[in-house]
Amino acid sequence: MHIADYRVTKAILDRHGFSFKKSLGQNFLTDTNILQKIVDTAEIDRNVNVIEIGPGIGALTEFIAENAAEVMAFEIDDRLIPILADTLRDFDNVTVINEDVLKADLQTHIRKFKNPDLPIKVVANLPYYITTPILMHLIESKIPFTEFVVMMQKEVADRISAAPNTKAYGSLSIAVQYYMTAQVAFIVPKTVFVPAPNVDSAILKMTRRDAPMVEVSDEDFFFKVAKLAFLHRRKTLWNNLQSAFGKTEEVREQLTQALEVAGISPQIRGEALSIPEFAKLSEALLPLKK
Ligand code: SAM
Repeated sequence: MHIADYRVTKAILDRHGFSFKKSLGQNFLTDTNILQKIVDTAEIDRNVNVIEIGPGIGALTEFIAENAAEVMAFEIDDRLIPILADTLRDFDNVTVINEDVLKADLQTHIRKFKNPDLPIKVVANLPYYITTPILMHLIESKIPFTEFVVMMQKEVADRISAAPNTKAYGSLSIAVQYYMTAQVAFIVPKTVFVPAPNVDSAILKMTRRDAPMVEVSDEDFFFKVAKLAFLHRRKTLWNNLQSAFGKTEEVREQLTQALEVAGISPQIRGEALSIPEFAKLSEALLPLKK
């Protein structure tokens, strides 16, 4: 029997008198096949350390602990800490940290792995209300996570993994794909959670690239340009650039020149530009940076 077996989950929740907090995105998985698929997708073995965000009552943690060298799990809800001590008592390779992952000093924590030289993967069923902040926090932490295998709303997974010229493509696709490859591994129906969320979910697998997808001389400006190109999705790139940089004759000239240098038509929409094209564009626009 596993923690995630529906009856076991129910018994744990009853025994501890636990009530879900919607505000913390608490939807617990009760399907052991899906959990097995998650750890298979993450290709975890005894030579991998894992960071988990939001262990809940330990459904996924148990599957990770059975396969990984060590698991460090960050849980914000104090009420879950004694429950996790109970449900995961048989494992000596799990550390639960009662902190908000967005505020946690991850660099210091990961030094506490018994073998800190092993590759570190992130495996989690994320709280949906802060999926994007958590992902960006982890990616930008500069910790060399080799892989993320994480559950999120299907719609967000589609946006992150989207290709140019699709409706889902936007600045989030660029922010993640700059650092990592991103693919939807499989879809998870809402019926396998207690309580069931309102939307379907997906497991997204992201693998860190050896180096960012393109070389840019000013990363912050590159991401800024990517953002402003999608400011008004229906407007042309030219109109969005003008709204951002100004409409004076001087700016018009600079923009025209920059687009010419980058080899990009002003009449296309931001969603048509690939990441290498955004890189060219941001390099060419650098003289306009305020
Ligand atoms: N892993 C469990 C499972 O699959 O059944 C629970 C997943 S549930 C979707 C998300 C978990 O994240 C909850 O346990 C919630 O309390 C926790 N959580 C929410 N916000 C958090 C934060 N900022 N830092 C750490 N944990 C958080």
